Amino acid sequence: MYVVNVPEAGEGTCPCEGWNNHWVKFHPDRFAGTDQSRCSAVGCSGAFKHGGHVKKAGVPGLTDRTVYIIPLCDTCHDPANTRPYLIHSHIALIPADPKVTCDRR
Ligand SMILES: [Zn+2]
Ligand SMILES: [Zn+2]
Repeated sequence: MYVVNVPEAGEGTCPCEGWNNHWVKFHPDRFAGTDQSRCSAVGCSGAFKHGGHVKKAGVPGLTDRTVYIIPLCDTCHDPANTRPYLIHSHIALIPADPKVTCDRR
C-alpha cells in the first residue's frame, strides 16, 4: 500500500492527547503481537514518534479520500516528504476523523 502525507490535516486535535495515542488506541488487537515501535514506511527503521496523517495513494481509480493515522518517524513525518511511499502491509490505517473513532456519539 502506498500512502502520501497530508500535513495540513495534522493541525487538528482529538480527545486522545496526541495522534500517536490515537493510533495506539484504535489499532486492531490482531496486531498486538507485532512490533509497533517502528515507523510504517518500508525501508525505514526509524522509531514511531508521530501519528502521521496520510491518504492512500498509487491505486488507479482510487475513491478513498479518507485521512488515516499511521505510525511515522521524524523523517517520514516531515512535511517536506511529499512523495507517495510504501508502508508495511501489517500496518493498520486508523481513520483520523474523531467522529468515527474517539469522539463518536
Ligand atoms: Zn483520537
Ligand atoms: Zn520513517
